[in-house]
Amino acid sequence: MSLSDKELIHYSRQIIMPEIDDSGQLKIKSSKVAIIGLGGLGSSCALYLAAAGIGEMLLVDGDRVESSNLQRQIAHSFDYIGVAKVESAKNQINSINPLTIINTVSENISDDNSQLLKDHEIDVIIDCSDNYPTRYLLNKYSLSKKIPLIHASAIKFQGHITTFNLTENSPCYECLFENNNHNDENCESQGVFPPIVGVIGSMQASEVLKVILGLNALDGYYQTFDLLNNKINTFKLSKNPSCPSCSS
Ligand SMILES: [Zn+2]
Repeated sequence: MSLSDKELIHYSRQIIMPEIDDSGQLKIKSSKVAIIGLGGLGSSCALYLAAAGIGEMLLVDGDRVESSNLQRQIAHSFDYIGVAKVESAKNQINSINPLTIINTVSENISDDNSQLLKDHEIDVIIDCSDNYPTRYLLNKYSLSKKIPLIHASAIKFQGHITTFNLTENSPCYECLFENNNHNDENCESQGVFPPIVGVIGSMQASEVLKVILGLNALDGYYQTFDLLNNKINTFKLSKNPSCPSCSS
């Protein structure tokens, strides 16, 4: 695989940076990522990754676009209300970068269909879901296949992000969140400030690109954003030696 003259011009504003260069752009072009959830986080993450030149994306989401999504889910538009989110997002992504190959699965991910991540030879999994069963499932899959997992969530004015399972020594999702009772908070019951999903989804795109490029990702660090109180914090994470998922 190589970069055409048109691609060298198209991506010139990032290739000029020594941290990326031609070789990094080629790595971005060669990468296949899975975006699980095409809501607020998945929308901004997918659009930035396509703009940056990701070679191939697998979009997984069983929902259809509703008008109440449009205040924050920028990969969808009015004309696509009622359409599968993965098809709506595919259309928007392709208008930004027709060279990115988009595969779609209009189903929610589950134990029954998680094989599709293997079938598509995914390099990075991006958790843009809004529920705990999916987060645990993706963590389990990521650990078993040794594929990095970019995890994030956002609600009201707050969001957080980290990268799990980058190396053998990285903490996993269950090191941080034990698999027991969780609050069933969601955007429908609690509300969501539109830009927070843009901020956190863009951070997920940043993490994906840094993992691909071998730059300093949030491996072992957990970053929180509070747009109401103007606070950004970074916490060090440790692997839990008795984690039921990743301890040996
Ligand atoms: Zn763990």
